[in-house]
Amino acid sequence: MRILVTGGAGYIGSVSVEALVEAGHEVTVLDDLTTGFRGAVSPAARLEVGTYGDTAAVAALLVRDRIDAVLHCAAKSLVGESMVDPAKYFRENVAGGIALLEALRTTGVRRIVFSSTAATYGMPERTPITESDPVQPINAYGETKRCVESAITWYGRGYGLRSVILRYFNAAGASKACGEQHNPETHLIPAVLLACEQGRDMTLFGEDYATPDGTCVRDYIHVSDLARAHMLALEATDPANTLTGPPSGPCEPLICNLGSGTGFSNRQIVAAAERVTGRPIPVKIGPRRLGDPAVLVASAQRAHEKLGWEPGLGTLEEIIGSAWEWRRSHPAGYPD
Ligand code: UDP
Repeated sequence: MRILVTGGAGYIGSVSVEALVEAGHEVTVLDDLTTGFRGAVSPAARLEVGTYGDTAAVAALLVRDRIDAVLHCAAKSLVGESMVDPAKYFRENVAGGIALLEALRTTGVRRIVFSSTAATYGMPERTPITESDPVQPINAYGETKRCVESAITWYGRGYGLRSVILRYFNAAGASKACGEQHNPETHLIPAVLLACEQGRDMTLFGEDYATPDGTCVRDYIHVSDLARAHMLALEATDPANTLTGPPSGPCEPLICNLGSGTGFSNRQIVAAAERVTGRPIPVKIGPRRLGDPAVLVASAQRAHEKLGWEPGLGTLEEIIGSAWEWRRSHPAGYPD
């Protein structure tokens, strides 16, 4: 397949690009490098520096590289930031997302896999969360992802866009070549490892949640497991595959959670990081972070049944261990 990966220089995108080229696909990466890194992109992929929000430019790219399917990973994705600057999230994720869909529509590219999020569920009423549970985001990030999910759904009904929407829980870990690097580092696992490297205390945001130890609970999934799910999802958008609709005419998205089904509290993450690194990581408790649900744990039953996907790299120590390995083998991060 010839695949366009938006955000292919970012954390999840770069690991997916690596897996796609290894599986023999031809990959074009579209990334504006605002948060991604040139050095994260597999040399076997073609990198185009630019925004997915420019319909004409994306349309030209789809035609030039005769793209069969798009994996749309690019987005602004920080819950905290989305609460203080929602405009940025609506502009980039929603307006940009529609611009991308327009490029697909006008060039007749009918296959998309969309990176969505557990944040669409908001404060879930039960755990583990299934895809048919109510979608009612409590942060702007989740809301923008819900908007794009809706647009994709209606493009399916109106224009026959075939889609798989993947609601990631908490992506973590690293492949040998690609890992998680952000500035500033706001995600829990890299932030814990950074605190450990710098010999600083780790600040946890709140310990008065209705959870066993009072800190939030999340479902961590290895980024390489996500990459494998992307590949299966891209295959599922084939017109011959009924999971994403009939060969022609209106289509409904296949929506799947991607998680492990097991939750770990923020304190458990710190304890696991202490075991992996062999170093003490003292914890300080700070105020709650705006927009944080107490517990987000997936039921990944549907991804298993429909896509044949199963998380294979699941133990917490393996996930944190791979992130730690990557940091040690890339002490200065990516070259650029
Ligand atoms: N968190 C924390 N300290 C940090 C970073 C994150 O306590 O420095 C908490 C955060 O409040 C949430 C959990 O870790 O409860 C996971 O946050 P992250 O940003 O990694 O992912 P999210 O679940 O928001 O997508």
